[in-house]
Amino acid sequence: MNEWIALKPPTTILNNSEEMKSHLEEEIYRRWQDLWNEYNGALWMKKLIPRVPKAANEEIVPQNVYIAQAITGNNCFRAYLKKIKKSESDECECEQIEDAEHGLKYCPRWKSNRPESLDLNDQLTKQYMIETVRKLWSQEIERKKGNPSPPQ
Ligand SMILES: [Zn+2]
Repeated sequence: MNEWIALKPPTTILNNSEEMKSHLEEEIYRRWQDLWNEYNGALWMKKLIPRVPKAANEEIVPQNVYIAQAITGNNCFRAYLKKIKKSESDECECEQIEDAEHGLKYCPRWKSNRPESLDLNDQLTKQYMIETVRKLWSQEIERKKGNPSPPQ
């Protein structure tokens, strides 16, 4: 009869589960960053968020509904509204496609309040994004009522 004995790792390793969890978490976030780097979609979001969190408790995106729209390009931007059939046109008033990048980074209509670079860690950027998304919503509501856009 062939009997085998299962060997177990020493308790100095087994009792160190916090260290093991920490290694595992680092690996999970490292792999997530690799996927994020390789992903070819969400280009605007990737410009604003070049790196994912390094740990579960690291907060890198401000919690604000307007900033979320600015980052995702959803809701108030006409390219999105056209995609979900809430608008017939995806054109901005400056005749470019109005996606989030155009609206927030290039559109001449919002140039006066735009910070030099858009950085989610910068208070001016956050304020600019919130104000711009709110203006876009106001404009969209007026447009639905049949009113022309107010001057900027
Ligand atoms: Zn524009």
